[in-house]
Amino acid sequence: CGIVGYAGARPALGIVLDGLRRLEYRGYDSAGVAVVCDDELLTEKKAGKLANLEKALAERSAADPDSAGSSPALGIAAGTTGIGHTRWATHGGPTDRNAHPHRAHGGRVAVIHNGIIENFAKLRADLEDEGVEFVSDTDTECAAHLLAGELARLRAAGEPEGPGLLATAMRQVCQRLEGAFTLLAVDADIPGAVVGARRNSPLVVGRGAGENYLASDVSAFIEHTREAVELGQDQVVLITADDIEITDFAGRPATGKDFHIDWDA
Ligand code: GLU
Repeated sequence: CGIVGYAGARPALGIVLDGLRRLEYRGYDSAGVAVVCDDELLTEKKAGKLANLEKALAERSAADPDSAGSSPALGIAAGTTGIGHTRWATHGGPTDRNAHPHRAHGGRVAVIHNGIIENFAKLRADLEDEGVEFVSDTDTECAAHLLAGELARLRAAGEPEGPGLLATAMRQVCQRLEGAFTLLAVDADIPGAVVGARRNSPLVVGRGAGENYLASDVSAFIEHTREAVELGQDQVVLITADDIEITDFAGRPATGKDFHIDWDA
């Protein structure tokens, strides 16, 4: 029921968790995060309150005696690109397994989603026919597999590597989805970028200096920036530390609605 994304120079995990805490009032049954550190994708997700997720994250770093900074446990605290989710289960019970992020493509791609993908049953059946194995009961997981498949297809076709690839793949996926969605995704092979998309569900960008934010609600990033952009219907946004690029689902340049948040959070 809440979504946060960060691309910048600071460690993403704390920023994302703080953002999720600011969205807690909306209610949720599970929470999870994904962080890209170097070329690794690290995720943690738990049913229940944010405290459960934080406990799992704390155990993960306590279990790691290596202080060299190269291990995944420390990496998740060090990575500077991240996404976080609080879930209000609609498809599949509130379990660790059904919590977001959902990963695909050998775990290199992570997707979080608020809303309902109405045509998920058909998409899932088609993917299963192609040999894709699902590990959750959610409607969301099909978006993760579709995105990973699209990225693989674009790479095989020789598309240049980089943030633009992630946005192109997300646009292709959105054209196949029906229903309501705010989606965010990261790819371990495209560090430094977070892509977002929306239809019938809110998504706002927070404009920082050398960092940018995505969230379902401005309260998630209001302590960091008050310059925001509200995305329009059927738009895709790509953020990196220094750039915000908005298009429609067909790839045409688009603009959101810029605004300044002048109320107190
Ligand atoms: N439909 C998705 C699920 O059940 C997302 C629910 C939400 O908006 O949090 O996992």
